[in-house]
Parts: sequence; C-alpha cells; structure tokens
Amino acid sequence: MDLIDTHCHLTERPLCESLAAVLDRAARAGVTRIVVPAYDPPSWPLVQALAAANPGTIYPALGLHPWVADQRLDLGDLANRLRDCRAVAIGEVGLDTRIESPDLLVQIPALEQQLELARDLGLPVILHCRGAFAELADVLERFSPRLQGVLHAFSRSPELARRFLRLGLHLGIGGSVTRPRARNTRATANTLPLERLLLETDAPSIGLEGIPPEAVEPRHVRDVAETVAHLRGVEPDRIADATTRNAAQLFGL
Ligand SMILES: [Zn+2]
Repeated sequence: MDLIDTHCHLTERPLCESLAAVLDRAARAGVTRIVVPAYDPPSWPLVQALAAANPGTIYPALGLHPWVADQRLDLGDLANRLRDCRAVAIGEVGLDTRIESPDLLVQIPALEQQLELARDLGLPVILHCRGAFAELADVLERFSPRLQGVLHAFSRSPELARRFLRLGLHLGIGGSVTRPRARNTRATANTLPLERLLLETDAPSIGLEGIPPEAVEPRHVRDVAETVAHLRGVEPDRIADATTRNAAQLFGL
C-alpha cells in the first residue's frame, strides 16, 4: 500500500523530537510521502529545511494561517521562499471564527492576497476553515475555476461538502473519520467522489478513535484509509491507490 499524508506538522513536538523514527514507522506502514504545511513566517524556514533534508519524502507548503493573519505578510518573501524550496502548495491559509482574534476583517484580506499569489504561481492551496464556511466559499467563488486546492480536515456534512466540490476543491479526510460518533465526517467520506478525496493526519492536532492527538503520526494515514475503505465497502488498496493518485496530481509530486 502506497499512501501520502497530505497534511502533517512534522516541525511540531513531539514529532520533530524523533523524526527519523516517525518517518521509519510511516514508511513501514506504506506512508512514503508527507506534505508539511508551515503556518507563519518563523515556521517557513523550518519547513523549508525539513523538506531540503528529506527530498522525495517531505514536501513543503508555506502560508500564513488565519490564527496569525494579523502578522505582517511579506508576499515577496513568501513568493521567493515558495520558489526556492519548490513548495507544492500555499498553506495553510483560510478562515477561522472560533478564535478571539484576529477577526475576519483581518483574515479575509490575508487569505485573498495568498489566493492571488497561488493563482499567479500556479500553485494549489491548503485551506483551513472553522466556523466560516459560507465566508470561505464566497471568497473562493471569486477565484473559481482557476484555483485548485484542498479543504483540509473536513468533518462536516455531505451537503456542505458539495458546495466546495462545486468550486473544484478536494477534501482532506483525517482521523476524525475513525470515530463512530463522527456521523458527518463518515457520511462525507462515504459519498464524496473518489477523485476528490485526500487522506491526512493533521498530526499532532487531531486524534483517532483510541489514539490521542499527541500520539498521532503519519503512519496513521493507513488507519484513515482502512476506515474509509470499510465505510465505502471497498478494499483499502483501492482507497490508497485513488487518494495517492489524487494527491500526486494536485501537488505535482
Ligand atoms: Zn494544519
């Protein structure tokens, strides 16, 4: 089984403390490639260095996350770094109303600037969204159909999923799908067109059933693939093949 973790923060603890072992366990589970998004200017060089040290395994994405959208965004610096490290995406970027600040008046312009850059550079985007799906869809409408990307850690209903599928996005399904009570995530994972499905862990942020977030590693993408396969009533290999092809195509891996 050949799998890609399309969203993992390997620069974060505890993953960064035992990276070689984490990557070894991932490879033994069939997870051979990992997209690592940075989220603010200090994390950009860390992700760049990690990718440079692990060519063919770790693929970088750089962006300014909505949580820190009030930080100064130097688009020229971002563009240079994206080129220098041959980043596979701009991200993670997006909108989030479940935080105290910055508010959407600050988040939306930062997102729009980065979407414009993605369009100019021909890069896909990795999108984070909590609580602002309508606002995100409105912003994306203005960039459709020329913008490609993934709405990561999607855990909402098939109805909401359809709005983003119509905009041409992929949806990233992660560890929450392994929880029996995650009805929406499971319904979406079950009904989403296979060619729009990506798998991810978002480690170390999201747990799996019986596994706390801080214990999650890229190798757990295999559990996500097996759960999705079970829900869809197909062999895990079929999910692995399709999602790996999708990720390789979207990110140009
Ligand atoms: Zn993330």
